[in-house]
Amino acid sequence: MRVLALTAAVVIFATVGCASADPTSSSVAGDESKNEAPESLRSPQSSEKPPAEQASPEANYRLPAQTPGRATAVNRIDTKDRVVFLTIDDGGHEESPTAQILQEKKVPVTSFLTTEFVDHDPEFYGQIAEVDGQIIQNHTVTHPELPFLSYNSQRQQICEASRTLRSWYGAKPWMMRPPYGEYNDDTAAAAAKCGVDYLVLWSVNMPEGGKGTFLYSQNQRFVPGDIILVHWRPNLHQDLLRGLRDIKRQGFRVAALQDYLPRR
Ligand SMILES: [Zn+2]
Repeated sequence: MRVLALTAAVVIFATVGCASADPTSSSVAGDESKNEAPESLRSPQSSEKPPAEQASPEANYRLPAQTPGRATAVNRIDTKDRVVFLTIDDGGHEESPTAQILQEKKVPVTSFLTTEFVDHDPEFYGQIAEVDGQIIQNHTVTHPELPFLSYNSQRQQICEASRTLRSWYGAKPWMMRPPYGEYNDDTAAAAAKCGVDYLVLWSVNMPEGGKGTFLYSQNQRFVPGDIILVHWRPNLHQDLLRGLRDIKRQGFRVAALQDYLPRR
């Protein structure tokens, strides 16, 4: 039964992708978070785990406003630091060179894993998560379009994925990326019930498959706090190396998302 479900999920993934490089996806995500008014100014919390690179002394950021009983949608971190955040979605294509790059270069990454895509080899991601700066967060059980599901079905997708990830990796997720960047109010409510504080969207798409350029949200450049989306796919390491060079060339560094979006 599980095999059938996984097969179906992979077919959907292969056909549509997680959140395609279609700039519409990212602009939708951006529109949906425009109403978030910053409410507090904080310094990155370095007490638990230091960022992979030293934060600048004037490092600061604002957390988005919170609505009780709802996970908060975030598509970019409100910060003046010249930092961007790398998020790698889905799972299912375990790529050793990518794991090596993340470990050797100490690039902090948030992996949003779909549990049925990775349950044949959860240890692969577990080894990466043991490196400083790496975290694993929720990307549902089967990668559905959540707004088409009932509240209860959405809650099952989110809570079950969190339970599974916790059993594999020991930490309960507090971030969730809705597949395709699609969510509604039921998603925000169900996610909160599952202990999720943030629905993490994105503001920039990284080119995949060795071609194309970054799809920026404005001015064809990174802006501080951009959240970059890419996927666990074959040859990810080549795209990653190219992307990291672009990030550095523009004067940015990759920071750890959890330092700017701590558990509430
Ligand atoms: Zn996805």
